[in-house]
Amino acid sequence: MKMVAGNWKMNKTLQEGVALATELKEAVKNPNCAVVIGTPFIHLATVAELLKDSPIAVAAENCADKEKGAYTGEVSAAMVRSTGAEYCILGHSERRAYYHEDYAILREKTQLALANGLKVIFCIGEVKEEREAGKQNEVVKAQLEGSVFNLTAEEWKNVVLAYEPVWAIGTGLTATPEQAQEIHAYIRGLVAQRYGQEVADATTILYGGSCNEKNAAELFACPDIDGGLIGGAALVAEKFLAIIAAR
Ligand code: PEP
Repeated sequence: MKMVAGNWKMNKTLQEGVALATELKEAVKNPNCAVVIGTPFIHLATVAELLKDSPIAVAAENCADKEKGAYTGEVSAAMVRSTGAEYCILGHSERRAYYHEDYAILREKTQLALANGLKVIFCIGEVKEEREAGKQNEVVKAQLEGSVFNLTAEEWKNVVLAYEPVWAIGTGLTATPEQAQEIHAYIRGLVAQRYGQEVADATTILYGGSCNEKNAAELFACPDIDGGLIGGAALVAEKFLAIIAAR
């Protein structure tokens, strides 16, 4: 499946988010790919209601690693699902780096999200030093083995991968199409080893990291890049719409 997904991160008040979602709803009627927007938790119910008759699906940017109970301030996967959101972004490099989400925590979150009927957009990717040391393949392999390759083939159907080199996120540095294609092909090969070639061919693998309206078409032309996970450019309707049109 081809897909363009936005990740608003910690941007937009509720009113600003509703305004952006309304603009997108009016423009996206019959897209040639799946379209998802990831919003802050507190916007989910309103934005999901607004988009309920639209082809645009809504994603949370995180969920708790516990089912329910005395975890003040946390938001469970069941709560996310109850808003009408269909997806949950997990494993984003900002969550890994700033909130210390390790392989085991992400394994729990993924299990809970899937068990509660959410689809997961699972992010992987190396930091600059790892790329410079030529270790990007071993890094993404360890991230997959550590958190999601425990899933059954049935569960895997609801997983989308997003390769996001950390050195390209929000930096204006984009992986070249060749760099991105090379590692996407490697990732698809790992999925094939674990789940078989047919499943690997059906797996959606997004590229993320300073993907914008100018470079999207070139990246999306690569055979193993099924779409994009978009940060900064997802905050401006005309940029996000241009990226959707490029897919
Ligand atoms: C992201 O955070 O998922 C991302 C890809 O951000 P940006 O597009 O701003 O680099």
